Amino acid sequence: MLRTFLISALSLLTVAAAERPNIVFLFSDDHALAAISAYGGLYADVAPTPHIDRIGKEGALFRRSFCANSICGPSRACIITGKHSHKNGYLSNDFDTFDGSQITLPKLLQGAGYQTAIIGKWHLISEPQGFDHWNILPGQGNYYNPQFISATGVKKYSGYCTDLITDFSLDWLKNGRDPKKPFLLMCQHKAPHRNWTPALRHIGAYKGKTLPQPASLFDNYDNRSTTLKTQRMTIAKDFSWGHDMKFHGKNEFPQHFTHLGNGEYERMDDEQKKAWDAVYEPENREFLAQLRDGKLTDKQITEWKHQRYIKDYLLSVKAVDESVGRVLEYLETSGLAKNTIVIYSSDQGFYLGEHGWYDKRWMFEESLAMPFLIRWPGTVQPGRKTEAMIQNIDYAPTLLEAAGLTVPAAMQGKSFLPVLQGKKDEANEAIYYAYYGENTHSVAQHDGVRTSTHKLMYFPVTKEWQLFDLVKDPQEMKSVHMDPQYASTLDYMKKEYAKRRTQYEVNDAAVPKDRLKEDWWGKRHREKIQQIKKAGNPDLVFLGDSITQGWEAKGKAAFDQTFGDYQTLNLGFSGDRTEQVLWRLFNGEWNGLKPKAVNLLIGTNNTGHVKQAPAETAMGVKLIIDFIRDRSPDTKIILNHVFPRSANKDDELRKLNDEVNRLCAAYVDQKFVYSLDMSPDFLSADGTLTKEVMPDLLHLNPASYEKWAKAISAKLKEIGVQP
Ligand code: CA
Repeated sequence: MLRTFLISALSLLTVAAAERPNIVFLFSDDHALAAISAYGGLYADVAPTPHIDRIGKEGALFRRSFCANSICGPSRACIITGKHSHKNGYLSNDFDTFDGSQITLPKLLQGAGYQTAIIGKWHLISEPQGFDHWNILPGQGNYYNPQFISATGVKKYSGYCTDLITDFSLDWLKNGRDPKKPFLLMCQHKAPHRNWTPALRHIGAYKGKTLPQPASLFDNYDNRSTTLKTQRMTIAKDFSWGHDMKFHGKNEFPQHFTHLGNGEYERMDDEQKKAWDAVYEPENREFLAQLRDGKLTDKQITEWKHQRYIKDYLLSVKAVDESVGRVLEYLETSGLAKNTIVIYSSDQGFYLGEHGWYDKRWMFEESLAMPFLIRWPGTVQPGRKTEAMIQNIDYAPTLLEAAGLTVPAAMQGKSFLPVLQGKKDEANEAIYYAYYGENTHSVAQHDGVRTSTHKLMYFPVTKEWQLFDLVKDPQEMKSVHMDPQYASTLDYMKKEYAKRRTQYEVNDAAVPKDRLKEDWWGKRHREKIQQIKKAGNPDLVFLGDSITQGWEAKGKAAFDQTFGDYQTLNLGFSGDRTEQVLWRLFNGEWNGLKPKAVNLLIGTNNTGHVKQAPAETAMGVKLIIDFIRDRSPDTKIILNHVFPRSANKDDELRKLNDEVNRLCAAYVDQKFVYSLDMSPDFLSADGTLTKEVMPDLLHLNPASYEKWAKAISAKLKEIGVQP
């Protein structure tokens, strides 16, 4: 009986394993919806995308797929983690490094028996984890004769990047994988990212044609946030002489072009340069002659720039589309197609002249939207077009469910598998978006929510709100947040915004933030990373602000005496708030640590610096605990009550800390998270804090450090942690 049961259970498992779908994730960089024919936008008639369109014809096309943060690295991090940027720690391309120790889609699939590969643009700085095979571009990579990095090192190849990524991907499908296992292939193109350099076989294809121009090409940015006027991503003023417009030599017209030269051209060999120049130089000479004559108006110059840009952009897309065609053809001839999910997407959208812009970052539709076309024979109804609102954080949960796996609770996205199966036609009621600001292009930090009909945006630096009626004003030319007719909509959207920020655990205390502008802080951060690399895994980590850092000074004698038998690591940084601790953990100070215990004391600077709402500070503390628990589930955390501050128990800051402690009690489970409250040791019977205990009513003296050391030591004993 048991034997029969086991055999049938086993055969069931085998069947299930055999039926698990393969996943081919075809991905590009900065591909706007308007540049895909199937989406029917401004360039539908000229966009060279028959193969991408085919995925939509044989599968489904999602009209409302949005990113959570519209830039290259962050969008990729959202996709593989299923989490918003502040939760996966990769907020911007400026200084962040992706923390590869976290749970990701490829890791979970790999753990479930999938073969996993990523080929092409990765752009997350740290080495890919969770992939059986990877061959990636360094950073942004190059269009011509690019380098690739694999587990065996760096290698330069001759040829065009999009073609090489396709060759490598097909080679892995044919020869690299274990054919007995299901697989995930992430084939990720650099194109059509700036500087939009097409393949030689495509250049000149739009010669003599005038391509359409967006209605808002000469947007004056009235009626919206003042920050729209301070960005630097306009076609009129912010295109460079060489890099963007492909002129050679010295910039002759600094009033019209910035100075960046064309590095991609410099990478070409002599033959490639010759073929390139044969097409570009006659056009360049003609336009520059007109410029020198001084007869062109600024408007005409902008229009010429737009034509040069849109043609190069669409031709860069053309090779991506051919790549999609080659992969589809292989899936068909190999017989893999019938059990393979094929997705075409891109890390965000892009401005093709709308609002006078190129680039992305803004929460406006053009760069918020991501293409999403999916073919899955037998599951997705061919030819379906859906308005279901999905976001890139939903991709991982959906693909995990498609592979029959459970979605980890920590993933913030929601599976839209029921939409794919045709059981539902709705996904999210609203999506949350956050852009954290970067140096490039001076786009101001903002976040917001979008529903099917409206969009609310908030700019924290200028404290401006914007509300758009997407039905009446799809081009987002006028914010109606001041319009009395929209008062109730504004109210609803602000509530939605607050709701989503609570749901996704977003606030200043919970969003990782560096202090790299302070030299000592960056130096200490780098030293700590080196120390971890050298010393290996510590038994005890002390995590916090100046009070923790003080173990190295006023607390040193007590520390050495009490913890001398342990391997210790002090991650205390003077002046840090919860958000800085989060940034440090995400950016190398944790780096695979599995300590026996962490002594955590943080929060008093959230109170002292900005009088942060206790619920927000407590959320920051929670995310620090979550971070440690995710990566080292056996580590025990001693969560110290934020120390009392100020002499009087009724002092405002004291009370804020008390409230933080009351809220943080919810995180104590007596199994992995334990509480330590020093206030009975530090306070007089009436709640007064004296200078005998804390000379500045905030920091400890050596005698107080001794008391704290004893209390931690006793707690370690109580929870079974020994050297
Ligand atoms: Ca991108």
